[in-house]
This record gives sequence, C-alpha cells and structure tokens, in this order.
Amino acid sequence: MSLSVAVILSEDIVMKYSIALLRGDGIGPEIVDSAVRVLEAVGKKYGHEFNFTPYDIGGIAIDKHGIPLPEETVEGCLKADSVLLGAVGGPKWDTLPGNVRPEKALLGIRAAMNLFTNLRPAKLYPALKGECPLREDIVERGFDIMIVRELTGGIYFGERGMREGRFGEEAYDTECYSRMEIERIVRVAFESARKRSKRLVSIDKANVLDTSRLWRKIVHEIAAEYPDVEVADMLVDNAAMQLVRNPAQFDVIVTTNMFGDILSDEASQITGSIGMLPSASLNETTRGLYEPIHGSAPDIAGQNKANPIATILSAAMMLLYSFNLKKESDAIVNAVDEVLLAGYRTADLAHGAEALSTTEITDKIIERI
Ligand code: NAD
Repeated sequence: MSLSVAVILSEDIVMKYSIALLRGDGIGPEIVDSAVRVLEAVGKKYGHEFNFTPYDIGGIAIDKHGIPLPEETVEGCLKADSVLLGAVGGPKWDTLPGNVRPEKALLGIRAAMNLFTNLRPAKLYPALKGECPLREDIVERGFDIMIVRELTGGIYFGERGMREGRFGEEAYDTECYSRMEIERIVRVAFESARKRSKRLVSIDKANVLDTSRLWRKIVHEIAAEYPDVEVADMLVDNAAMQLVRNPAQFDVIVTTNMFGDILSDEASQITGSIGMLPSASLNETTRGLYEPIHGSAPDIAGQNKANPIATILSAAMMLLYSFNLKKESDAIVNAVDEVLLAGYRTADLAHGAEALSTTEITDKIIERI
C-alpha cells in the first residue's frame, strides 16, 4: 500500500520538458550529444523527463533543404520549451553567398524567437588559472562576470546605407534605442544582479552619444526599484581597460548590442578557455536559446576531441533560466568544477599532456552528477 502511494507520488512530480536540439555542423553534433547525456543523467537523478527533438540548422540544413534555417526548424524551436544549439558553419559552405551562409541561420533564429537578451558569463576557473593571459596578481584575485548584452537593437539593426557625400562615396550606420528596449534589458540585468552579488555596472558612452544618455537616465530610474542593488556607470573605453586591469571588480555588466559584442569577446579571452564558455539568449518568455560561445571548430570535427563543457554549461543555464531548476543546474556546474579540480582535461586545455576525449570527459562529469 505505502509502496504504491510512493509510486503515484513519484509519478506526480515527474516534470516534462521538451528541448529542440540544433546540433549544426563541425563539432556541433558531438558537443550537443554530450550535453544531452548530461541532461539525461540530471533527469534520472532528480525525476524530470527531458524530451529532445532534433532539427537541422546551418550547413547541414543547406545540404538537406537548400537553406540554412528551414521553416520546420523555426516552428520546432517555437514549439519547444527551450532550445540547445551546437555551432554552425565550416569551409564546405564558406564560398556560398551571404544570404545562404550557415551563419545567417543564427540571426534568423534569434530574430524568430525575439531573443533580446544575451547572457554571457566569463568565469576564471581556479583549476584553469594557468590559461589566463593576465598578470599573476590579477589572476590570483579571480573573476566571475555576467555580461548582459542587448541583442536585437542598436547600431546592428539601425538604418544604414551607402551614399554620395561631401567627399564622395560614404557609408553610414545609425544607433537607435527606444525606452522600451532599454527598460527591458536593464530590468533583466537588475534581476540578474539580485540573484548574484547585487552589484551592477552599466556601460555606455554617455559623454558622446544621445542613445547612451537615454540609456543612463533609464538605468538610474530603474535603480530606484532595486535599492538592494548597487549600480555604477562606466564609459565603454574605461570598461575595456578595467576588464584587463582589474576584472575582479565586476559582477554583472549591462550594455548595448555593439559594446556587449566587443566586451564579451574581451572577457572571454581573459578566461583563456574558449571551450568552457556558455551563453543564453532570452526573451520575455521562459523559452531561450542556449549555446557555447565558440564556433564549429572544423579542424577537430568528428575526432571526439572537442571540449563539450561550454555546451554542457549552456544546458545548465537552460535548467536555471528556462526551467527554474537551480539545484539541478548547480549539480552540473559543480560536477564540471570537480572534474577540472581532479585534473581531467580535453586536448584544448592539456597542453600536450594526456587528454580525455569528448565522450570520456562527459562520462567523468556524469559520474559526479
Ligand atoms: P571556432 O570557435 O570554431 O574555433 C577556433 C579555435 O578554437 C579552433 O582551433 C578550434 O579547434 C578551437 N575550439 C573551438 N571550440 C572548441 C572546443 N569546444 N573544444 C576544443 N577546441 C575548440 O572559430 P573559427 O575557427 O573562427 O570558426 C569555425 C567555423 O565556426 C566558421 O565557419 C565560423 O563561421 C563558425 N562559427 C560559428 C559560430 C556559432 O555557431 N555560434 C560562432 C563562431 C564561429
């Protein structure tokens, strides 16, 4: 009797989540499959059911359907609870015209899902301090930064063109931000700061740009709603210096599309380990798109050599941001920490020493879930 009750109870609490898998090209299939195995282990341990449906994107989609982002892929992503992406592109498709290049699919899927927020953590793992290109005393202080970048507005989406000007041929791009666009990304950043160390730095160029002045004004207005979060403004040129001079001073950073593009690449470089960095792109719903920040690494594709950790940590971000499963997300992050502290490395971090394959390091992580 008590056994059947236990069974019914355990059935009651099984939560089901549907995940669209966009494996893509190059190492994409290998690293996504690693993340799937880790999610399955988490599901088994914590009583959740993750259902995966694969869709084509990028080069493989060009080969099979003639276009990088088939309608079926977009529909599948919009139907799923969340989306996990590997990477797209490779030399095979490099000579195609711009509008049918694999990378075009990334912009397409971000637009279709209205992903206006990009979260890019840049963390220096204690076990990987040797990878950091900065001075030893800076490395010793460590850093763990979350960059919140606006992803669907600003200069990349503004009016642009070519024309005849005073000095002949000229080109122009314009930056425009609405109050609505600024408010929604700034709120995401304050919420994110609240969940971390309650420190937020807003980065702009308010000494020159009107868009930045509006940005800064709105940051200050919204700050009044978050008295528990300490907020500071910083000019982008100073921020670029501070990131290498003293990255430990930052926790959450919020900034525009273009500044975020540049600063998040700078931040990822100072961690020294491209195969370790996940990202999340979010909208107003809980459905997000999660992907490693690196590309499809065609030079090592199909060799079971890729570091799957960035994709595995992207899956951990999905558990946290899309499914609100903090304990399960932490279980993945902690398992990765333990594997690194135990000295296990894939080839990209082994510096010629003995390295584990993609599947072997995934096994080590799963053992620690
Ligand atoms: P890349 O990130 O694919 O590779 C750069 C270097 O880092 C390579 O030496 C690669 O072997 C290594 N590397 C990357 N990820 C790794 C991992 N997980 N484990 C071990 N080593 C790893 O960048 P690239 O060479 O400039 O681009 C290759 C292709 O990827 C291009 O077609 C590019 O357009 C595409 N790309 C796609 C995305 C994406 O899908 N989001 C992003 C960037 C580049």
